[in-house]
Amino acid sequence: MKRIYFDNAASTPLDKRVFEEMKNYFLADYGNASSVHTYGKKARIGIEQSRENIACIINAKESEIYFTSGGTESDNLAVKGIAYAYQDRGNHIITSSAEHTAVVKTCKFLESIGFKVTYLPVDKYGMVDPADVKKNITEKTILVSIMHANNEVGTINDIEEIGKITNEMGVLFHSDAVQTFTKLPIDVEKCKVDLLTFSGHKIYGPKGTGVLFIRKNVMIQPQIHGGSHERNKRAGSENVPGIVGIGKAAEIKIEEMESEYKRLKELEEYFWTKINENINDVYLNSHIEKRLPGFLNISFGDTDSEAVLLSLDLEGIAVSSGSACLSGSSEPSPVLAAMGLSIERAKSSIRITLGKQNTKEDIDYALTVFPKIVKRIREL
Ligand SMILES: *Cc1c(COP(=O)(O)O)cnc(C)c1O
Repeated sequence: MKRIYFDNAASTPLDKRVFEEMKNYFLADYGNASSVHTYGKKARIGIEQSRENIACIINAKESEIYFTSGGTESDNLAVKGIAYAYQDRGNHIITSSAEHTAVVKTCKFLESIGFKVTYLPVDKYGMVDPADVKKNITEKTILVSIMHANNEVGTINDIEEIGKITNEMGVLFHSDAVQTFTKLPIDVEKCKVDLLTFSGHKIYGPKGTGVLFIRKNVMIQPQIHGGSHERNKRAGSENVPGIVGIGKAAEIKIEEMESEYKRLKELEEYFWTKINENINDVYLNSHIEKRLPGFLNISFGDTDSEAVLLSLDLEGIAVSSGSACLSGSSEPSPVLAAMGLSIERAKSSIRITLGKQNTKEDIDYALTVFPKIVKRIREL
């Protein structure tokens, strides 16, 4: 059976060139990067090369790049790390009601120990209004954490505008850029962001790898204590193959960024146009223009997303439901709820995210399957 993967926002296949680059650090240069012998030095060189690649991509300094175990850890380190480090200045944090659970749950935890959190509303596409950020900043506010692009609908926030506001008002700004890193240009000087989260496995790199950019002179309370790794901000022997992998993945992706953007936009527009032509009562939940390339969150009226997802899987097509992180629960996704979608619309939402490996043939095949499945489910 033909198998097609349309869930690239959840994870991506490892690029073979990344795998090749990593292999050496498993099998030959396996030393501890803190060791002074040649094995250690070689591992260290791999790590620092990766740091240089990533710093260069976002116009940061190498000393501002910290490696972590993934997007989740970077979000935790950013939000908790700032909260603890700046608690004598204030106890107020501003975030949005459409953030990834790694930010939401971290904020909930901070609330449980006495911090105050404002969850800004989003519009019907999942976008934060920068004016709301400004309105809600008080003298107690220490951090604003607003994601760059949403992982359920792909809608892109105006982080440049938000950064301008936080910078003027002297508040730190963190953005979870897991979904946008190497897909959209990010320049930390232009967007005045103080902390940025990236993850390896969303960009054809290895799972369990992440980056936190921390601007120079921003204080942070480490969340993992131990050795003096990552300039005393994140203890633990470095995951050398992983770090090399995320750096290589980023390097490859940035070279392909423009051409891939264009290609995915075209594929996605073709997909959406054809779905619209061939299936009635279908809605796009993502922003019409300001969304990631290859990203379609759509609802088929009078269907249930779990039924659509499972039927597609039987035909070899992998997508996710709008409530991917909460699968198994009967509650609609909090993000779609925050966008004001009706329960029916939220429960019939599926997320299609195209990636490097997808071709027009994949989409043509999917276009033969989708109408059939939606029709069958509607008839039940
Ligand atoms: C996937 C994702 C994360 C979590 O990253 P992991 O590396 O899987 O821990 C965080 N934020 C967003 C927006 C994501 O899409």
